[in-house]
Amino acid sequence: MESTHNSAKIYLLQEDREKSFKHWPFSDDKQCSIQKMAEAGFYWHGTETEIDIAACFVCGKELDGWEESDDPWSEHRKHAPQCPFVKFGRPETHLTCDEFVTIMMATVKTRYVNNYTTLKTNGKLLIEKKRKEMEKLLRTN
Ligand SMILES: [Zn+2]
Repeated sequence: MESTHNSAKIYLLQEDREKSFKHWPFSDDKQCSIQKMAEAGFYWHGTETEIDIAACFVCGKELDGWEESDDPWSEHRKHAPQCPFVKFGRPETHLTCDEFVTIMMATVKTRYVNNYTTLKTNGKLLIEKKRKEMEKLLRTN
């Protein structure tokens, strides 16, 4: 089951993304420090037992297994080249208002599509489960 504990929040601002990192294995002097992770669009998506999971606030790409020499922007670009934030390739302070609005719209759209997909998948599973229960009832009666 996918963890959803902090995915309801949209981490639009770098400051909020930085604050989301409750645990992180790398210190501030490392290539993938919390500040650099947040700058490249990542917020913390880990758990108590798996602390090195981060996800992009725009495209939702989740990455784990970080190493201290990993560059957050490069990793983001490598694993999600289609991400609008990656396409701009600049921290939020270097974006124009128009670009920031574009990012905001993309974020909302991704969220909407993901929610829709989850609803659809869960709906199908539920229908399938009910169908099996009914078949079982029909067979036993
Ligand atoms: Zn992204």
